[in-house]
Amino acid sequence: MSEIYDLIIIGAGPAGISAAIYASRARLHTLWLEKKFAQGGQVVNTYEVDNYPGIPEISGMELGEAMASHADKLGMCPVKENVLSVEDEGKIKIVRTKKNAYQSRTVILALGAEHRTLGIPGEEELSGMGVSYCATCDGAFYKDAAAAVVGGGNTAVEDALFLSRICRKVYLIHRREELRADRILQERLNACGNVGILWNTVPVAVEGRDEVTGLKIRNVKTEEEQLLPVDGVFIAVGVVPNTEKLKELMDTDENGYIIAGEDCVTTAPGLFAAGDLRTKPLRQVVTAVADGACAVISAQRYLLQNS
Ligand code: NAP
Repeated sequence: MSEIYDLIIIGAGPAGISAAIYASRARLHTLWLEKKFAQGGQVVNTYEVDNYPGIPEISGMELGEAMASHADKLGMCPVKENVLSVEDEGKIKIVRTKKNAYQSRTVILALGAEHRTLGIPGEEELSGMGVSYCATCDGAFYKDAAAAVVGGGNTAVEDALFLSRICRKVYLIHRREELRADRILQERLNACGNVGILWNTVPVAVEGRDEVTGLKIRNVKTEEEQLLPVDGVFIAVGVVPNTEKLKELMDTDENGYIIAGEDCVTTAPGLFAAGDLRTKPLRQVVTAVADGACAVISAQRYLLQNS
């Protein structure tokens, strides 16, 4: 464990990739870690990204690949290792994976967020057997079938639009009577002939044995329950930050997001938070890449002040 890095970046979503690009250009002695084979984070599961300036109508997978290849051109390629813990020893931070323990003066935490679960009966049991958290990954299995999408945000509406091109019928199940999704997506949804929105409705249980046969739902206003005959249930009810292993190192908010401002500085000196795991008003690719850049600048400043 003799080598000491200037910077370890954990995560290869948009924030981590952007941090790697900026770290390379800053000539920092950097180690980059990512647990998955694919780079790009959550965006690779998005069918189409149409709000990243300069690249309209690109698929999430292509955008992730383009970002990764940009980092690669600058000599930055993540080492595939799952981080088990980060230890703060003051001026030195220790990042442990299953195989190694790495030392660094600074760490950028860009571990992103993962889908939230509903916690209803049948959800876990039928996960992968009709219950899915990724329409673009699994939607093709539901050709001419009926599917339900749960949620009212951008992901849920994008999933409903994506599935409407494959499925015979799509139901969007939302717990309120107003969607959170961007207006442009709502307009596209309203123009879609085979998507029905069930307002003020929550899922109660996923029904089926070995495969999904229906979704039991309840109207929260009338308390009326009904069984929706669907073959697939796509859950898109938001994300939770990947901060479980980090919470003791620094301050987090009540939802587990690491408290850090635009400069990505956390309450733990030398540890920086970039992307979806940080407290911020807007979680998008465009704000994640901005974080990656800001975090490197903050890390550089910290290194200068603490050398
Ligand atoms: P989100 O914006 O947090 O929306 C989650 C939705 O799920 C909300 O409508 C919420 O209802 C509902 N929900 C939460 N918990 C629920 C529960 N237990 N039961 C039923 N419904 C529940 O999450 P997201 O859509 O995954 O998006 C995450 C972030 O990524 C957002 O910042 C989003 O803008 C961004 N994103 C952007 C794009 C794009 O710009 N193209 C695409 C995808 C995602 P309420 O509305 O009642 O709270």
